[in-house]
Amino acid sequence: AKKISSKKCYAFYTASMTEHLLNVSKLDNDLKVAIDNDELIICFQPEVNLYTNHITGLEALVRWQHPINGLMMPDSFISRAEETRLIIPLGLLIFKKVLEQMNRWYQQNLFDGVIVAINISSVQIEEDDFVEKIEAIRENVDISALCIELEVTESCFMSNPKQFATTLQKLENLGYKISIDDFGTGYSSLSYLKQLPLHKLKIDRSFIKDLPEDTDDQAIAKAIIALGKTLELEVLAEGVETEAQKAFLIENGCDSMQGYLFAKPMTAEALVAFLDQN
Ligand code: C2E
Ligand code: MG
Ligand code: MG
Ligand code: MG
Repeated sequence: AKKISSKKCYAFYTASMTEHLLNVSKLDNDLKVAIDNDELIICFQPEVNLYTNHITGLEALVRWQHPINGLMMPDSFISRAEETRLIIPLGLLIFKKVLEQMNRWYQQNLFDGVIVAINISSVQIEEDDFVEKIEAIRENVDISALCIELEVTESCFMSNPKQFATTLQKLENLGYKISIDDFGTGYSSLSYLKQLPLHKLKIDRSFIKDLPEDTDDQAIAKAIIALGKTLELEVLAEGVETEAQKAFLIENGCDSMQGYLFAKPMTAEALVAFLDQN
């Protein structure tokens, strides 16, 4: 291999580092502004019963209407917001915006009783006052906790499992539903799962993508469905894009699905128009 002079190497490293740091601090700053100026948009994606095709829920998914970059997807800013803890005010703003949208729908006699799922980061749920904070918003907007589902991931189990279990129990007592998102990608112990007050497992899209052909994914999907049945949880498949995937899931007793096959995430207005057409 060609030997690169250490000087050259250093110069290259510094330049890209500086660029990276500049980009990151710009993102942090922009995100603070986004929260203050409310540049966030909430989209909703239906969850449907595999057997009746009825909508059983809606998942709220955030987007950021950046003044220069245009529409930004959550994968490009959520993890940075977690690192800087900006996810705490951001998450509360998202929670408030979702509940306000539910209220607008109810005033139009839409989606009454439909459960709306909101993604919650581990950084948020580890805060001591998480439950109090969301309860204050919920009481203010006046939406029943029975219509709200909180999606957590297996990463929430990691840092303080005891505190996590206590928080989930508080939420369950208040009427919230709890689902485990991206299930199968984390490291949750199965014996621990059964002690938590859960309602739903969402099978991660990576296990659905290559169905029905991939035999490993077949085995994983079947195992998660069986586990959900045993624990008496609803099992939903994420990222269902084809009829063949849907047929596999029906054949193996999965309960519900979410994915482009039925609908992509849409703004509140687009969702209403979509339902009018279908
Ligand atoms: P997630 O919670 O697992 O959400 C599902 C993601 O899969 C969404 O991506 C959705 O658009 C996408 N998806 C749904 N069906 C299909 C399909 O059939 N095919 C494909 N290829 N993709 C599909 P999105 O909206 O980009 O969100 C990505 C992730 O960002 C979410 O994954 C979630 O972890 C995070 N996120 C989104 N909104 C929020 C939020 O409000 N708060 C927090 N903390 N995280 C959020
Ligand atoms: Mg989710
Ligand atoms: Mg997911
Ligand atoms: Mg995810």
